[in-house]
Amino acid sequence: MNPTELNDDELLRCLKNLVRQEREDTAAVVAHLAEVDNRNLARERAYPSLFEYCVKELGYSEPSAFHRIRAARAVRKRPELLDLLRRGEVHLRSLVLLHPHLDGEGALEIIQQARGKTVQEVSALVAPLCPRPAPRDAIRVIAVRPASVGDLPLFAAVAPGGLPAQSELKWEVSFGAGSRLRELLDRARALLCHRFPEGRFEDIFTAALEALLNLKDPNLWPEGRKTKSRTRKIPKWIRRRVWKRDHGRCAYKAPDGRRCASRRALEFDHVRPWALGGGSNDPSNVRLLCRAHNGLMAENHGLSRPATAGSR
Ligand SMILES: [Zn+2]
Repeated sequence: MNPTELNDDELLRCLKNLVRQEREDTAAVVAHLAEVDNRNLARERAYPSLFEYCVKELGYSEPSAFHRIRAARAVRKRPELLDLLRRGEVHLRSLVLLHPHLDGEGALEIIQQARGKTVQEVSALVAPLCPRPAPRDAIRVIAVRPASVGDLPLFAAVAPGGLPAQSELKWEVSFGAGSRLRELLDRARALLCHRFPEGRFEDIFTAALEALLNLKDPNLWPEGRKTKSRTRKIPKWIRRRVWKRDHGRCAYKAPDGRRCASRRALEFDHVRPWALGGGSNDPSNVRLLCRAHNGLMAENHGLSRPATAGSR
């Protein structure tokens, strides 16, 4: 009905009904998304991730897709959240904030505390659970690496003189970062996410500095090249050629001809698997695949078990 034709009471009543309907629809979308995630269906349809599926296939904006996926995963962890979402007792955005805190023992209590709260209030609720480091240039020892439960080598690691062994020290390195570094960091994390699935800064910066020093430090330059007759490692010239040929994108094609074309977490894949006799020295036996589709190919060749649903 046209809102301009309603009287005030009708208009407000109608709006309320629409908002209730919208909440129910959102909860239904989240429930369906959780099941799509559970069945890992995005991958089957040649999307490298559920996020890509939501943006490209369902037409969500990136933030909307992110919020709904996080909410779906929160609901997978705690199905009772779906009812709270439907009734408007927690907001979609609150589920995003709650998602990282739904595994531990305190999860039930946090959910109870979040009921009826605004997103800002929920944000304040979870903020103490993930404190922020100060952004200034500093390097300092923060702790001796904690020993795991029932483990005693913490004491064994203490060097003569009472100081912990150097390798057992953990450092806090903090500095403010500009947009350029932020952008480089995001790109490096995306590119290396198969190697460092957690995307930890320590791993990324260690890899980056090692690569820099390998390039710039003459002490680290290799003396000569070793060659083996049949090696799994794909030579650099082949990798360069394949990267160019596949335009730096996943080359997987679904049965209906749709190409994945993801730029994330690309890996060089042996078309005929190395384990099944395929070679590394022929560009036509090498292609670029994103991690999801490299995994799918490995499964199809019986070289690995099906991926855990929703692990990415
Ligand atoms: Zn792919």
